[in-house]
Amino acid sequence: MQIFNFLLLTGAVAALFLASVAWTRRHAPGAPALMAMQLSAAWWLACYALPFARLWPDEGLFLRTRVIFPAVVTIAPLALIFVLSYTRGTNTWRPSRLLALAILPAFVLAVALSPLHDLCFGTWRGVATDTIFQMGPLFWIHSLYSYVLVGHAVLALLAAYQQGSTHVRRQTRILLGALIIPAVCNVMFIAGVSPPDLDPTPIGLVASGILVSLAIFRRGLFDLVAVAHKKIGSAITDGFIVIDAQRRIVESNAAIRRMFDIGQPLKPGRLLGEQLAALDAHVSLVGTTPTTTEFVHGSTRHLELRTFALCDDDGNMTGAALIVRDVTEARTTSLALEQANAQLKAQLDTIQSMQAQLQEQVIRDPLTGLYNRLYLADALARELTCSARTQGTFAVVMIDVDHFKSVNDVYGHALGDAILRALGGLLRQQVRPTDSPCRYGGEEFVVIMRDVTLELAIERINELRVAFSALRFASNRLDVSRTFSAGVALFPQHGRDEATLLAAADAALYAAKAAGRNQVCQATAHVES
Ligand code: GH3
Ligand code: MG
Ligand code: MG
Repeated sequence: MQIFNFLLLTGAVAALFLASVAWTRRHAPGAPALMAMQLSAAWWLACYALPFARLWPDEGLFLRTRVIFPAVVTIAPLALIFVLSYTRGTNTWRPSRLLALAILPAFVLAVALSPLHDLCFGTWRGVATDTIFQMGPLFWIHSLYSYVLVGHAVLALLAAYQQGSTHVRRQTRILLGALIIPAVCNVMFIAGVSPPDLDPTPIGLVASGILVSLAIFRRGLFDLVAVAHKKIGSAITDGFIVIDAQRRIVESNAAIRRMFDIGQPLKPGRLLGEQLAALDAHVSLVGTTPTTTEFVHGSTRHLELRTFALCDDDGNMTGAALIVRDVTEARTTSLALEQANAQLKAQLDTIQSMQAQLQEQVIRDPLTGLYNRLYLADALARELTCSARTQGTFAVVMIDVDHFKSVNDVYGHALGDAILRALGGLLRQQVRPTDSPCRYGGEEFVVIMRDVTLELAIERINELRVAFSALRFASNRLDVSRTFSAGVALFPQHGRDEATLLAAADAALYAAKAAGRNQVCQATAHVES
């Protein structure tokens, strides 16, 4: 009995030590409740170890039973609070829940310490070491309540075990033992399975203390890094899964379940392909360089998967960390942007082509399709700059249809237009691509001919004149034809700027008219500007 008492006393001291350790780590989830639980256990063990019977021979056992009661009523609720704080990862409790847990124990304790204690202990026959007493109805109610709480705690631990990482599983295994052993010992005592004078509950408490120390010191129960790891895992919005080299799941977080719309937590130890085929298909464990791939899950969810190889010290791949990010929003936005860009580009193209059309309209003569006078000014300026630089020559030819007014007067305006169109067509066909034929106004045309001598220009305009005069226009069964006169001026021979060249060509045209029309004259004088 001495050894037994010594063992219990040592257990009580150890429980006090564990309580102090829990106090130093009181910010870790479950630590404050574990501290209270260990204080309760220490009290329970101390009461058993102290020689009450020797101190109070008459009512030692009865006294001890009453003194022990604060520990008896608190240990199960504290165990539940500890387990739930640990599994939920928080020390924050709603006061109403704590109060609800405490009501029955407080009541039972009050009755046990009051003259109504028989409701707890029943008919008391205990004297000194005689342990025979019948439990009262409240004792049974309280015992049932305690087992329900312990049962709840066991279920919470089992759930944590199922969902937890290997690290968490190691801890929960030990904690399950620490919870179940004293409960079983207590059941044995109450059921009368144990020897009548030996209550195994305190032994169970000592065993429980040993297991809790193991969880704290060997398995880092209140290791803040592990706690933080769990917190971070559930807080981050990216999904992550750690798999081993055989693609078995080691750990995962809640975000990954949300991304793949899985209700059940992923079970560690199972193959990734069994539980998450949609992701497994995209995981390739080739080489140790991190890889990034993107895929569409379902019809709309865009996911980006980054795979990091995990290697041992020898560089062998032992698994991989998979990080999955939902990039749907970014992709949808960039898609919308691309569409908007394409629309903008199409609109810009339309505007540009309309602008080009407008520009064409501005420089084109609608009747003949030739360039107009506006373009002529530009073309002349360009030609001047270019020829001055290359020391080339170019001719300015002014053409005027002979007696054109009479066409309108005799055959009508429509025939006049037809003749102008025909002359425009001839000019377009017969000049070289580098020449610029323009309608100067009315029935007057100007052609800029690049890189020509005066003779060549005259020759080509004469060819044009002959071709034009051969054209026949029908009006009321009458053949109508017209001729034109032309004046040719050459840069730089007859002028070095637009005005001079045009004036020289005009003067030559005037000379052709004066000479009887239907002929080409060259400019005669160089008029300096
Ligand atoms: P000349 O041999 O001296 O040049 O005689 P002309 O009759 O050609 O003389 P003038 O230059 O005075 O006549 C030009 C006529 O051209 C006047 C106008 O009725 C006509 N005309 C000008 N522009 C157009 C046009 O766009 N269409 C038509 N049908 N006639 C035009
Ligand atoms: Mg005229
Ligand atoms: Mg004329």
